[in-house]
Amino acid sequence: MSDWAPRRVKPPMRPRLTVDDYLRGLLACDRGVLSRAITLIESSRADDQQLARELIGRALPHSGKSMRIGLTGVPGAGKSALIDTFGSFLTARGHRVAVLSIDPSSSRSGGSLLGDKTRMTRLSADANAFIRPSPSGLLLGGVARQTRETMLLCEAAGYDVVLIETVGVGQSETTVAEMTDFLMVLLVAGAGDELQGIKRGLLEVADLLAITKADGGNVVHAKQAAAKHSFAMHLLADPEQGAAPVVTCSALEGTGIEEIWKIICDSAAERERSGSLQRRRSEQNTKWMWTLVDQQIQALLRKSPEVGAVADQATAQVLAGALSPVAASERIIRALFDRATPRA
Ligand code: GDP
Repeated sequence: MSDWAPRRVKPPMRPRLTVDDYLRGLLACDRGVLSRAITLIESSRADDQQLARELIGRALPHSGKSMRIGLTGVPGAGKSALIDTFGSFLTARGHRVAVLSIDPSSSRSGGSLLGDKTRMTRLSADANAFIRPSPSGLLLGGVARQTRETMLLCEAAGYDVVLIETVGVGQSETTVAEMTDFLMVLLVAGAGDELQGIKRGLLEVADLLAITKADGGNVVHAKQAAAKHSFAMHLLADPEQGAAPVVTCSALEGTGIEEIWKIICDSAAERERSGSLQRRRSEQNTKWMWTLVDQQIQALLRKSPEVGAVADQATAQVLAGALSPVAASERIIRALFDRATPRA
């Protein structure tokens, strides 16, 4: 190589942090450490995963103190604009806001329905806000695990409001509902519910419906849509719980934002009094535990070539109608127990 050839200088490796370093950084609300901790839980390296598990375990007692709010709506419903305005409203009142997203399209294809944090220009320049886009390249189950763990780390780092947004494609809004305390569904006036892909099941679990873009010439439209949806929500409602409120808002003009926050706070206070918030979180944790068990069993299946072969053979036989699904599942589970568990 000639002396004139440009030399590539490798950037110095950042020293690896220990679990203690991560935890100390998180508890000191260090955003840089929080970002690195999230990168750690997103890493597929076995040693990183081990460290991440330890970190989650250590961070857990410091988590759980935030208001966990889910937001869903089709692309264009106004999620990012609302999060930008709502998040800024909250930081101005002294809250620390974390924004996470669950984007089923980016998990499958690397493309994105939610885009990146440049959509929230005010909030991304706000020192009291932390925005993290959806992890990509994973199936929904993997995205859900990482988003949940990211939420726990954000809570340990002192973020007291966590907003989790999703476009509500496939199962993603159910996934968000299963990790938040309060689910807000965003609708645009004028477009029919069918057009907005609103599923009846989603309206049943919604805690608040917000008709967005209620400004300028659209105010009348938005109010009419709110009245119509309010009526529908009363028909759908569980008589014991009452109907979820319907509000109009404008991210552009900042109207309706204070009302949304008041509804969320009143609901949180009421649920805390009745114990239903704690119950909801406990149920979410139990469900989460079983999801992890399922995922780990699937991982074990994939890791053992012998069990994989039994599973492939069983699949072929079920496909050919030569074996019942029940018998096939028993065969796979038996193979898993026989071969995949470490011997004492
Ligand atoms: P998302 O895809 O759900 O995140 O939607 P965006 O927040 O990106 O909004 C989609 C479009 O609606 C953008 O062109 C926004 O400028 C516009 N928009 C969002 N909120 C409002 C609002 O409150 N009022 C008006 N007039 N337009 C809005």
